[in-house]
Order: sequence, then structure tokens, then C-alpha cells
Amino acid sequence: CTAIDIHNLCFSYDKKSSTNILEIERWQVNAGERVFVHGPSGSGKSTLLNLLAGVLKPQRGEISVCGQALHSMSGRQRDVFRARHVGLVFQQFNLIPYLTVRDNIQLVRYHTHTSSKLDEAIITLFDGLQLDPILMDRRADALSVGQQQRVAIARALINQPELLIVDEPTSALDMAARDSFMQLLLALPGAEDRTLVFVSHDPGLADYFSLKVEMQQLSKHKELADAV
Ligand code: ADP
Ligand code: ADP
Repeated sequence: CTAIDIHNLCFSYDKKSSTNILEIERWQVNAGERVFVHGPSGSGKSTLLNLLAGVLKPQRGEISVCGQALHSMSGRQRDVFRARHVGLVFQQFNLIPYLTVRDNIQLVRYHTHTSSKLDEAIITLFDGLQLDPILMDRRADALSVGQQQRVAIARALINQPELLIVDEPTSALDMAARDSFMQLLLALPGAEDRTLVFVSHDPGLADYFSLKVEMQQLSKHKELADAV
């Protein structure tokens, strides 16, 4: 089935401007695909991720993610969509420093479960991420960068999303840490069925992916097209 289906999409931050940041004629991604998105700074990678997650809404065109037509949803409906279907890992991890790891994960927890069920779910994820369960009770800012990054992954996966979106997660890591991070990410339970959209500047990571997308080919960047 189709995880991402985009048709004649136009997006601009400035509603009055005729210049679009993104123009995508057609883009389809099958469920379970691992997509590597690359392109220079300013080419619209973050904008694309925010459209896929339903944070941003296109001015024109259609965007369906996990079978949901985001273009005809309200902001509230897109929030619910995001909680149910999408896991997001940001470049800066976006953990709240003064909260414990458990509370950081609980914040995005969509299904209401007893706390023992939550702990069980966290421990299962921690196991796959090679994180010690003892870290659950630590403050987020007491963890190393590598640990924080894996907690951010655990938080993104706690609702068992069909789509995992990861933005530049390896920029703070050295080469060896980068490769073990990728291997960990792709070996996690459910990784085979989950669609992964991964943004990186680092072409060395492309081999881990089944699909490579160059932003400048995906989108007719209006500004650039006009300049030619
Ligand atoms: P990245 O390559 O991760 O997108 P940027 O430096 O381009 O990093 O952007 C950092 C943040 O600032 C992003 O969240 C982006 O949405 C926002 N941003 C980028 N350009 C602008 C702009 N012209 N006006 C407002 N916000 C912007
Ligand atoms: P990338 O992630 O590839 O660096 P972005 O999606 O962040 O690219 O940015 C694409 C373009 O949109 C850039 O020209 C950037 O300046 C602009 N932009 C990004 N965020 C905003 C924003 N919040 N408001 C206005 N312009 C923005």
C-alpha cells in the first residue's frame, strides 16, 4: 500500500507571494520503504518533513500520508493524525531538559495506558536501542548526546507509528557512532514494516536506504527555476 502520495503540491510560507518553496508534481512511496532525502541547505527538506507530519498544510494539491488526506484536514485533525501515525525525531532531539526521560516519553504518549504498561513499552524500546532502563528516572539533561538521541527515537516510536521521520540525527556523531546508530535504527522491532523518511546532508549514509530522493529533482523549486 502507499505510505506517501503527493500530487500537484504547492507550498509557500508567504501566502501572498507567488514564489513557492516546494512544487511537487507527483511523489509516491510504498509502505515499508526507507527513504533517504538529501539536498543543500534551504532546498526544502525540513519543509517537506513538516508537510508529511501535517505540521504544515499545502496551499494547493493533495498530500496523503498513511492513507489520510492531510490537505482536507483541519489543524486539529492533523494533530490527531500526527499522534496516531507519525513519529518525529528532530535534529536537536527536542527533549525537555529538566524532565525525566520517562516524562519526556510520556508527553507524546497517545494511548492511555497504566504507568506499568508504559514502563514495559519503554523497556522494550530501550532494549532495542541498547539503553539501560535505569536511565528512565534520570533527567534528560543528565544523559550523553548519544543517549539523548536514542531517547528521542524511543519517544518517536512509543505510539508505534507507521511512519518514522528523522531529521539530521547524525550530525553530532562521529563516523563510527554514526554507523552503529544506523544499524540500531534499522534493526529495531517493526523497522521492516515501518516507512522511514530520513533527512541528511551526509551522502555516506545513502547505502542504508532503499530509495534516494534529491530535493532539487523532487521539487521544482520555483525560485531556482525562475533564475535559470
Ligand atoms: P535546516 O537546514 O535544519 O532547515 P536552517 O538553518 O535552514 O536549518 O533552519 C533552521 C530553522 O529555522 C528551521 O526550523 C526553519 O524552519 C527555520 N527557518 C529557516 N529559514 C527561515 C526563514 N527565512 N524564516 C523563518 N524561519 C526560517
Ligand atoms: P532545508 O531543510 O533543506 O535546509 P528548509 O525547508 O528549512 O530547507 O527551507 C526551505 C526554504 O524555506 C528556505 O529558503 C528557507 O529560508 C525557507 N523557510 C524555512 N522555514 C521558513 C519559515 N518558517 N518562514 C519563512 N521561510 C522559511
